[in-house]
Amino acid sequence: MARIAVIPGDGIGNEIVDAAVEVLKKTDAKYRLNLSYVRHDAGGTAYDAYGTPLPEETIQAAIEADGVLFGAVGGDKWNDVAPDLRPERAILGLRKGLGLYANLRPVKVAESLIEYSPLRPEIVRGADLVIVRELIGGIYFGEKCESETVDGTERAWDVEGYSVPEVERIARLAFETARIRGKKLTSVDKANVLATSRLWRKTVTRIASEYPDVELNHLYVDNCAMQLAVKPTQFDTILTGNLFGDILSDEAAVIGGSIGMMPSASIGLEASLFEPIHGSAPDIAGKGIANPIGTILSGAMLLRYALKEEAAAKAIEDAVDEALADGYRTADLWREGFKKADTETMTAAILDRIE
Ligand code: NAD
Repeated sequence: MARIAVIPGDGIGNEIVDAAVEVLKKTDAKYRLNLSYVRHDAGGTAYDAYGTPLPEETIQAAIEADGVLFGAVGGDKWNDVAPDLRPERAILGLRKGLGLYANLRPVKVAESLIEYSPLRPEIVRGADLVIVRELIGGIYFGEKCESETVDGTERAWDVEGYSVPEVERIARLAFETARIRGKKLTSVDKANVLATSRLWRKTVTRIASEYPDVELNHLYVDNCAMQLAVKPTQFDTILTGNLFGDILSDEAAVIGGSIGMMPSASIGLEASLFEPIHGSAPDIAGKGIANPIGTILSGAMLLRYALKEEAAAKAIEDAVDEALADGYRTADLWREGFKKADTETMTAAILDRIE
């Protein structure tokens, strides 16, 4: 039996996570996955109940789980809470507790949603890529100085550092990811300027010999940022460090056209966590109109990456594509001529299409 820790969080968290669990249950019934669920609090909801945004039981349940399905945390209600107890601290705590060292962000533009992309249809049609970003190293975690005075001038600095084992670990994950996708990996760095990038490139090139079936190429980050806008279809799997990945993954998300549609996975040493890229959307919470697709597709990623259930994951993704192709749209995507769906209607349309 595979155990899934379900952590809805705040705002629309419960609505979208309930939808994703329903979809997982239906998929389980068809594919005999034998899933079980334990539900735990995090974020502002947990702060209200226990005085902390990440209770020990929640971390423990996540560590013991085979996969974690997470909604979102945060909301205006907790604006005045002490910084250490803010709802968003739950995310940092889970990252640390689970050793989440990699973030995977797929961007796939369904044919029926091409018009929502800011890019022209002929450019974006067929785009299907994933960004593998290193999550716990690099400049965000390096030594820093907020302020010092040198020769009478105030300065600040941050240190970018990567060790060979850190690069090897993320490179192997990226090659494995490319292997179950289009077998093409693009490693992104700034090796013409940065020493860390030269170590990165050398290490990734060496690891490539373990994966002769995957084609590797290298791109400088500035060129990659351009290529994502000019010809996103050239990419299959993109591997990059923490800072470049932060920026490129948000750029790539825009190509998809709607924040409510985008799933993500964070791969960990203890367990892996799957969540939509959007927040708790307090402006629409409780109205039953949130788009559940980002979370439902995160459930599909949980099946693919945590449980290695590729066929079941694909069944969910196909059901989402079909519901969209049949014209169902939540309020964030609705236009004249389409079937207006609240969270429940959209979820039902997807459930009906799982085969
Ligand atoms: P947000 O992603 O919550 O919302 C931005 C806009 O997108 C809003 O108009 C919202 O209604 C809309 N939106 C988001 N998800 C949607 C969905 N599934 N369906 C339809 N519309 C959707 O970002 P924000 O407003 O900047 O942040 C709100 C709260 O969420 C803040 O407290 C923030 O700190 C938190 N947040 C949490 C996470 C997380 O838990 N991982 C991520 C980002 C923001």
